[in-house]
Amino acid sequence: MNVVLSGMSDEAQMEENIRIACEAESNTLSEEELNVFKAVKKEINEKTKIPCTGCGYCMPCPAGVNIPGCFSCYNDKYLMEDKSARRRYFQSLGAVFAKPAVASQCRQCGKCESHCPQKIAIRKELKTVSREMEGVLYKPFVAVVRKFMKVKSH
Ligand code: SF4
Ligand code: SF4
Repeated sequence: MNVVLSGMSDEAQMEENIRIACEAESNTLSEEELNVFKAVKKEINEKTKIPCTGCGYCMPCPAGVNIPGCFSCYNDKYLMEDKSARRRYFQSLGAVFAKPAVASQCRQCGKCESHCPQKIAIRKELKTVSREMEGVLYKPFVAVVRKFMKVKSH
């Protein structure tokens, strides 16, 4: 048996889901369509490094880490073979701002992990994301940028 788990964040989405559930009929996909679906699902599962759905139940993080944002950029790097994923990681997570939301901000408190329905080892995965997306040059680079911006503003 297959079950659809559909996250809803507002009333409009709930109404949309109810409408689709009322209109949908079972066994409407052809054998060929089912095979395409299975092949795509297999490909996605194999290439997805961290099974984060982006639900946000782990948020907010007291250290300011955007947990789903970090995982999304990291997954895109592999799933979409997205060469701009690293740049997007730095831009979307405010890497050079005063309060960055990047993975290396994690203080390993563990508060987030008990809330994750996917049982992701968030602390361990964030260490991997930090290592691969930020590398060893991120912190020295940010220190230089901040120093420069401070000097420029005086
Ligand atoms: S373990 Fe890290 S990411 Fe999770 S809540 Fe604590 S500081 Fe935030
Ligand atoms: S709770 Fe888990 S699945 Fe949801 S956004 Fe956080 S890490 Fe991802």
